[in-house]
Amino acid sequence: MKIHEYQGRQLLASFGIPVPAGTLVESIEQAATTYKQVAAESGSDLVVVKAQVHAGGRGKAGFVKLVRSAEEAEKAARFMLTNRMVSVQTGPEGLEVTKLLFAAGVDIADRSGGGKEEFYLAVTTDRATRRNILIASRQGGVDIEQVAHDTPEAIIKEPLHPLMGLQPHQARRVAFDLGFKGSQINQAAKIMAALAKLFEAKDCTLAEINPLIITPGTATHPDGQVLAIDAKFSFDDNATFRHKDIQAMFDPTEENPAELRAQRFGLSYIALDGNIGCLVNGAGLAMATMDIVKLHGGSPANFLDVGGSATEEAVTEAFSIILSDHNVKGVMVNIFGGIMRCDVIAAGIINAATKHKNPDGSTGFKVPLVVRLEGTNVDAGRKLLADAKSSLPTLQPATDLTDAAMKVCKAVG
Ligand code: GDP
Ligand code: MG
Repeated sequence: MKIHEYQGRQLLASFGIPVPAGTLVESIEQAATTYKQVAAESGSDLVVVKAQVHAGGRGKAGFVKLVRSAEEAEKAARFMLTNRMVSVQTGPEGLEVTKLLFAAGVDIADRSGGGKEEFYLAVTTDRATRRNILIASRQGGVDIEQVAHDTPEAIIKEPLHPLMGLQPHQARRVAFDLGFKGSQINQAAKIMAALAKLFEAKDCTLAEINPLIITPGTATHPDGQVLAIDAKFSFDDNATFRHKDIQAMFDPTEENPAELRAQRFGLSYIALDGNIGCLVNGAGLAMATMDIVKLHGGSPANFLDVGGSATEEAVTEAFSIILSDHNVKGVMVNIFGGIMRCDVIAAGIINAATKHKNPDGSTGFKVPLVVRLEGTNVDAGRKLLADAKSSLPTLQPATDLTDAAMKVCKAVG
């Protein structure tokens, strides 16, 4: 599960990480008054307008704008609320923007040798070492992906002890290695410790601040202030049940509607961009099915695992979800029945076909349907399908995985 930046900022603040204040805006009409309010509270005319969507890369896409007047704020809000945001993280169709964050803008200190004092800081799980790790870089900001790719040595990775977490000496060393000076070292080390604690306490899979910045020095803060000005979080879905506060941050409008619908029926569905719908039992078999479809020149429209104990109703729903994707030109069912019974799948297929409404008002499947059944109650399942030939005119039984993949690829051309 992901959350918005404005929610992530609240989380950071609740763990003591300094974050500039901000207010949520949901219409162009609110822009001017909110600008004035945020500017008055921070005592500076610099405000940053930021699209709130579950994707990064906003800065480069023009969806993070620094403004200095109510007019500019309104212009930025109008642009963001009436255009879809397309960034490297969204895919070409982009995302609709309905919420904006108006945050107090900050000045970022210049770095000797050029550039601004922007850092990357994150905690995540490193599968290679099977530990949580702190990841940090002096080259933070909007080009972090490029930095990781071109100069991996510019990324610091510090493993966290499984029981003791991030140790103070580790945080201080990382702060030092990042080039923080004077009182900045303690400020940065405190932020790292808090981020590691937050990651653990809220069962995150990612807790990221990019950028963490330093403000220019002033009389009261000669070394400047270290602040988080962006926040990105993902949480472990298996653990959200124990975090009511995180659950409350769930925004269904940011999720793929088909994936949400699948979740309600206990189906693991992930939309992809191919044209062969796949209905499979078991995640491993579903992966293998997609591989073999690819091997034979096809392209899967989805990953779908109906699970080991799906009901006829869930199978019916699964078909309906697959066929609601208009790119689907053929469907491949691949069932290896263990706990799952082949006759339940067959009944689900027939039920789905009789219920399925085509755009012209007729019922039944129009797209080619290739079914490979094997395992528990396979004979009963095959008989059910054979007897239902009239409601399944496009059905082609397959003898094995390769046969099924070849047939469905051929059928969709
Ligand atoms: P992202 O592109 O989606 O990661 O959005 P960010 O919130 O990280 O903003 C992108 C970039 O905008 C940052 O790396 C900064 O360079 C700049 N930026 C964001 N907020 C401020 C601000 O308050 N002041 C200044 N000077 N720059 C900002
Ligand atoms: Mg960012």
